[in-house]
Amino acid sequence: IASQEAEKRGWHLYLVGGAVRDLLLAEAETRNLMINDIDLVVDGFHQTADVGAGVELAKALQQIYQNARLEIHGAFQTAALLWHKDLVLDSLWVDIATARTEFYPYPAANPEVEASSIRQDLYRRDFTINAMALRLTSPRAGELLDFFGGFIDLENQQVRILHPNSFIEDPTRIYRGVRFAVRFGFSLEPQTETYIRYAINSGVYDRTSQENSKTPALQTRLKTELKYILAAPYWQSALELLDNLGALQCIHSTLKLDAELSRQLNLLKHCLRKFDKKQTLINWQMRLEVLIAYLQPEYRGKVAKNLQLTDDSIIRLEKLFTVESEIITLLPTFEKPSQTLYLLRKYDLQTLILIALQSPRKIRRRIWQYLTNWGNIQPLLNGNDLKKLGYKPSPQYKQMLDDLLTATVDGIIKDKAEAQEFLT
Ligand code: ATP
Repeated sequence: IASQEAEKRGWHLYLVGGAVRDLLLAEAETRNLMINDIDLVVDGFHQTADVGAGVELAKALQQIYQNARLEIHGAFQTAALLWHKDLVLDSLWVDIATARTEFYPYPAANPEVEASSIRQDLYRRDFTINAMALRLTSPRAGELLDFFGGFIDLENQQVRILHPNSFIEDPTRIYRGVRFAVRFGFSLEPQTETYIRYAINSGVYDRTSQENSKTPALQTRLKTELKYILAAPYWQSALELLDNLGALQCIHSTLKLDAELSRQLNLLKHCLRKFDKKQTLINWQMRLEVLIAYLQPEYRGKVAKNLQLTDDSIIRLEKLFTVESEIITLLPTFEKPSQTLYLLRKYDLQTLILIALQSPRKIRRRIWQYLTNWGNIQPLLNGNDLKKLGYKPSPQYKQMLDDLLTATVDGIIKDKAEAQEFLT
């Protein structure tokens, strides 16, 4: 239907980017393919004034598919049609753009855009395997447009950048390249790897890791890439490759994946399995917080802000050093489990995990004990029980319940009968 609508207007329509790559890969590997994210590009008009063609096509399609939601993104003249997941279909996101050329007014800036042809549209993309198009309109519908050798690179399992300067213009492409390489089990084409190392050596990370950066859009892209990587099953291999390339410096110039940080990330897996059984924590976010918590305390808050983490995360990372100092000083002086309980219950699970990962074994074991046992113990009697026992509701209830909890956690009372006796 989309190609018919384009043909009616005398335009060409192409499937581009990741969907073409994934289609070709699926065909080669005879594996099932599930594409929820489709990028279409319209081309073939005669004047650059047609920059709104993609939007016009999207509007026409929305008239036909009224259950789709239409979003228009003005600055780049793109439109998206969204179908939400229902009982029959998975969600589907179709981006429709007008063929365009992007240029960067200065390195690591946001690109500026003008209308152009499909070849130029593909030429502005990152990797050859992402720069192919499949023609959807006639004549020659079904033809693969591969100007830069993407098909051969797919066959040779290589991630090759299109332009030598690409990583300097947009350092987040380093993360994208690593993501594609690790995800598909490909290697970085040697020249591409050289360009990455060159970009890193020339200090490109200054622009992503800078405080009060002039390029917040770049940091948004870095966060998006980090989120993809840290949420994926291959996150550890991706981090290793990023570290090997020196690219973790894009997060902070001092960040290195050394043996200690690897140990903490491995331990995190066990923690999440053990202490977050209901899976309330977001795994990629926890992994990112562990990376940030590994930095010197004075950098943590700034990096969390740069990466536009949630306010909760930023505050947690900013306060981590103070909380950690308090816990490390006080825990060894405590003799009773209830003292540990009252200290640690002030903090959320994420804070306790971050501190446990970094602490000496003795402290860590105390935190584990709190999380597995002491933190889950309920007082043996509740407010209703107190009422039944003849205690009039009063502000003292809370103190009584706390006393009961203390006695339970410290093993002084074991059942309701002992609890009643304890109160009297
Ligand atoms: P995925 O399956 O992981 O979503 P994708 O290739 O579809 O992979 P997107 O981030 O959705 O990735 O990007 C769509 C297309 O836009 C890419 O295939 C690529 O052609 C182009 N692209 C995306 N980000 C960049 C970038 N930073 N620089 C150049 N081209 C890019």
